[in-house]
Amino acid sequence: NRRIVLASRPHGEPRPENFRLEEVPVPQPGPGQVLLRTRWLSLDPYMRGRMSDAKSYAAPVEIGAPITAETVGEVVASNHPDCAVGEMLTAFAGWQDYFVTDGKGSRKVDPAAAPPSTALGVLGMPGMTAYTGLLNIGRPKFGETVVVAAAAGPVGSLVGQIAKIHGARAVGIAGGPEKCRYLTEELGFDAAVDHRGPDLPGALAAACPKGIDVYFENVGGAVFAAVMPLLNPFARIPVCGLVSAYNATEVPPGPDRLPGLMRAVLTNRLHIQGFIVWDFAEQAETFRKEVAGWIQDGRVRYREDVVEGLENAPEAFMGLLKGRNFGKLVVRVS
Ligand code: NDP
Repeated sequence: NRRIVLASRPHGEPRPENFRLEEVPVPQPGPGQVLLRTRWLSLDPYMRGRMSDAKSYAAPVEIGAPITAETVGEVVASNHPDCAVGEMLTAFAGWQDYFVTDGKGSRKVDPAAAPPSTALGVLGMPGMTAYTGLLNIGRPKFGETVVVAAAAGPVGSLVGQIAKIHGARAVGIAGGPEKCRYLTEELGFDAAVDHRGPDLPGALAAACPKGIDVYFENVGGAVFAAVMPLLNPFARIPVCGLVSAYNATEVPPGPDRLPGLMRAVLTNRLHIQGFIVWDFAEQAETFRKEVAGWIQDGRVRYREDVVEGLENAPEAFMGLLKGRNFGKLVVRVS
């Protein structure tokens, strides 16, 4: 059983020495348990948070323990009455080849219904994040403008496409011309803005002539600063992630922007609400049914960035925080 453990906590950007590849015996399933062989491993920005021991909504990974991750695994041995060898299950197996579970918190994945890796992306946690955050907090209305950054990733790409389905204008922010082209030409976004381009505030203002009614916050930092002056009265801001700051070690330089933000909250009556996808756990079935239907009828598209081999997970993860991925980042483990 190969596994990648947290060797040390990163300070700033994660580095190769923060990870260690180990070989341990394959665990054996006890009564009521199954042994899963990991087929697909999900790499997600939240893992940077788990590598740190700063206070958060979830406990950190212990030094020496496999890094947390959701996986799709194949049952290779079963002492569980409801699980047969050969079935595929989601699990929080972490970065490793094998995992023993009693199946609690797992879900069966039907490879005939959709490619198994989608259970980690568009039909899994990131997809549900987009769906629940946008519809419960963003609540886009017909004709409104919805802006989302990290827009070529699994969360952002679905936010924009659901905004379109609800009759809103979708504007995506992404890094580089290739991702921007993908948004407008393949996903049907109305406009795309490159946050690495020369004048982000100007380009975003040009893409949002009627201001911004919903800003789905994935990145923070310079993107949020460009969004703020464009927010319309009663704009809604689901705060989903702040990936531009995940590697930050200190407060960015410059003037204190908090008074300006609070003034905007007051005068524009902004609704800013943070959320974690599991806050909407009871909507999981509705989400999966509705998004699976949209995929089937061609209204939702998705893209995966597949990395081969568990040993390449650290490198791919380090790239994720810098936008080197293009689509949902998954590792084909075996
Ligand atoms: P992505 O696959 O989109 O990867 C993150 C992307 O962030 C990168 O590809 C990069 O895209 C972009 N990015 C990185 N640094 C910056 C920066 N400084 N400025 C602007 N963009 C940057 O990730 P996901 O779709 O999986 O996740 C998107 C967000 O949603 C993250 O913040 C994540 O933490 C959050 N999230 C929150 C959940 C919740 O429950 N609240 C659940 C799941 C995800 P680019 O090349 O376009 O810059």
